[in-house]
Amino acid sequence: MNPIAPKHAFLDTFAENGNELMVGGTSLSRLAERVGQTPFYAYDRQALTRRMQQLRQAMPPELKIHYAMKANPMPAVVQHMATLADGFDLASADEMKVALDTPMPAEHISFAGPGKRPQELSQAIAAGVTINIESAHELECIGKQCENLGVNAKVAVRINPAFELKASGMKMGGGAKQFGIDEEQVPVILQRIKTLDLQFQGFHIYSGSQNLKADSIIEAQQKSLQLAANLSPLCPSPIRKLNIGGGFGIPYFPGDAPLAIEQVGNALASELVLTRQSLAEAEIIIELGRYLVGEAGIYVTRILDKKISRGQTFLVVDGGLHHHLAASGNFGQVIRKNYPVAIGNKMGVQELETVNIVGPLCTPLDILADKMTLPKAEIGDLVVIFQSGAYGYTASPSKFLSQPDAREVLV
Ligand SMILES: *Cc1c(COP(=O)(O)O)cnc(C)c1O
Repeated sequence: MNPIAPKHAFLDTFAENGNELMVGGTSLSRLAERVGQTPFYAYDRQALTRRMQQLRQAMPPELKIHYAMKANPMPAVVQHMATLADGFDLASADEMKVALDTPMPAEHISFAGPGKRPQELSQAIAAGVTINIESAHELECIGKQCENLGVNAKVAVRINPAFELKASGMKMGGGAKQFGIDEEQVPVILQRIKTLDLQFQGFHIYSGSQNLKADSIIEAQQKSLQLAANLSPLCPSPIRKLNIGGGFGIPYFPGDAPLAIEQVGNALASELVLTRQSLAEAEIIIELGRYLVGEAGIYVTRILDKKISRGQTFLVVDGGLHHHLAASGNFGQVIRKNYPVAIGNKMGVQELETVNIVGPLCTPLDILADKMTLPKAEIGDLVVIFQSGAYGYTASPSKFLSQPDAREVLV
């Protein structure tokens, strides 16, 4: 049993009005009419704005905050984020296209990811985007393309540090990794950047994702700043940009406490004072995905059927893992836990029922809620999955079983 009902202790993003969940000032039922179909994702513009304001208040004022687009690349969301963030971090040429359609200047955009195709590299060089180099081979490709294009690429070195981000949902640094260049090999790479006469920008050190422990993040940030300071005498030119990663998590499950960002901000402020001498010309950057957008989004499906099997009640809805793999528990989770769920047009209903909420796919993996106690729901009601603004639609196998697509709206 894993009941979270009927109110969610850690959710204050969306208001309620009578039985209706409110999204951007509109009742959910009316929004569903406006969208014209279920399932859909809805992202709340005000919630995105408020989130960034709160974060900036907690962080040192000189810190630059970048948005990692892969968390939610919906063009309208990215347009809005362009007004809030200091830069974008991208992971493909198609993300770059969406980013360059916004007012964000190319000089505040960086491109990371192992396995960038030659075509993607030349596009990024031509655009003037900073390329985070992830291997010696990639650096040679960039050098050749710069010769062909007659352009001097902006490059930073993505470092695979010797340390790990402790207590992280997903580790992306430390040990043997496909990401970045091992700390030990960085001096040789720096020398080669100098020989190739590329525009050296600085370093990118990304150690992991979905972390709710302030102490672990503080430790990783300190080690990242220290590592960059140690490497700075070997750099071809002063470090101008130092991206110390992110990893700020959001609470998904009962018992998850929100990350203490004030603690992180205070520690970072005092660390920046200490490192200012060795990194005098560097912009210090953090890059965040889910922390900026995750809580501002919901996934909405409609109940198609209600049935009882051997004493358990099943609500069958018109969306599922093909749109929201993470909520089904199949996006890297070890143990399946329920995302926070509500019946979005029955918020105030007192009569409760324990149900399983399942999608329409012919696979037992298509579960959105397992034995949750929720207001009693009927066919036609709207099921809402919270914490769905990041790694939702584009992180799901939408072609699986040839179901209709979901819509996405920014309200
Ligand atoms: C995925 C990724 C991010 C964003 O991670 P979140 O957990 O969404 O904050 C940031 N930087 C890099 C390099 C990434 O690969």
